[in-house]
Amino acid sequence: MPITLPPLPYSYDALEPHIGAATLETHYDKHHRAYVDKTNQAIAGTSWENEPLEKIVRESEGPLFNNAGQSWNHTFYWRSMAPSGGGSPPAGPLADAIARDFGSVEELKRELGQAATNHFASGWAWLALERGGKLRVLSTHDADTPIAHGELVPLLTCDVWEHAYYLDYRNQRAKYVTAYLDHLINWSFAEENFRAASRS
Ligand code: FE
Repeated sequence: MPITLPPLPYSYDALEPHIGAATLETHYDKHHRAYVDKTNQAIAGTSWENEPLEKIVRESEGPLFNNAGQSWNHTFYWRSMAPSGGGSPPAGPLADAIARDFGSVEELKRELGQAATNHFASGWAWLALERGGKLRVLSTHDADTPIAHGELVPLLTCDVWEHAYYLDYRNQRAKYVTAYLDHLINWSFAEENFRAASRS
């Protein structure tokens, strides 16, 4: 079974004015699709061919890892955002953990914003849960992803490759990151991931 490109969970213009339709269409239909296609080309006729994407990400390396990691990360990124997102997480276990580990949602957003803005070159900024139950902010390079390493469960991600923001913000990554933090974060998705990780 080839891996599939999951549908974008909203329309191309759903995140405007923060992320324009042209960005979303190119990012999803060209960049994300190409990562999925290249993963499928690489696994065709090999022992990876019928493996789930998560297993390929965890166990591959080199060009296959790069394309598989990017395939997984983008699907997670689309779900990390929502039209009318942003604000604060709903009252509940995730909000309690944020208060415990960061002091406030504002402090978490400041740390996540710094990780996303200051990450050198291409990569991803993440909110993740450590096995011991502590929340962490981190960034990863290129296609790297917390699911490849096993110690962290991702809750949210922000794509900081230039293709994620260049049409809308040119070189001003910080403005894109601020829009992501204030208007796009899908806290319900983070909460869902937090509850699932806490049960496992
Ligand atoms: Fe991307």
